[in-house]
Amino acid sequence: MLKIALSKGRIFKETLPLLKAAGIEPLDDPESSRKLILNTNHEDVKLVIIRATDVPTYVQFGAADIGVAGKDVLMEHGGEGIYEPLDLGIAKCRLMTAGLVNADPVNGRKRVATKFVNVARKYFESRGEQVEVIKLYGSMELGPIVGLSDLIVDVVDTGNTLKANGLEPIDHIADISSRLIVNKAAMKMKHERIQSLIDRIRGALA
Ligand code: AMP
Repeated sequence: MLKIALSKGRIFKETLPLLKAAGIEPLDDPESSRKLILNTNHEDVKLVIIRATDVPTYVQFGAADIGVAGKDVLMEHGGEGIYEPLDLGIAKCRLMTAGLVNADPVNGRKRVATKFVNVARKYFESRGEQVEVIKLYGSMELGPIVGLSDLIVDVVDTGNTLKANGLEPIDHIADISSRLIVNKAAMKMKHERIQSLIDRIRGALA
């Protein structure tokens, strides 16, 4: 059995043609089906549909052999137990710090609201800046507006969401795109199958 972990939405839609190139096609549409495990045209290949932030965890523990996850999610997870053999070049965006337009300078330790707490801690540490990181689960843009935080760390695509909320991007932390990830043990045990899948997806990308 080969289990592939995917999240619904953009990653699923953009991964579908790549899987097709590797000869794998789901028999159900995850957007309309409530099934969490989708059968494919191969009896021994299943798609596991989970939250984007859970994909690295499933792959790390071998609950899925392979997955597709954003680099932002991988950076936050840490990447333990996972190989990252392929940049799929999809769902591209940037991980940025942002704050209110024309914000007053902050005296003392800045507060940073984000769902990427590990990334934020590492980033400010690397700059020798002591900050207080506040964990949020969504709508980070609200943080500076309501005075919860001075800055946020979030993914930015067009920047329209920041702009619509009176915020502006400040520092670029990393370029983000989706990556194919593989459980390290599965890469050894199921090497031929997984390597052939990687090769066919790489071919489709080229
Ligand atoms: P923007 O185009 O900058 O207004 O992005 C809109 C929202 O979509 C942002 O607040 C992000 O949270 C989210 N977003 C944009 N691009 C991506 C991506 N590639 N992966 C995950 N979230 C994204």
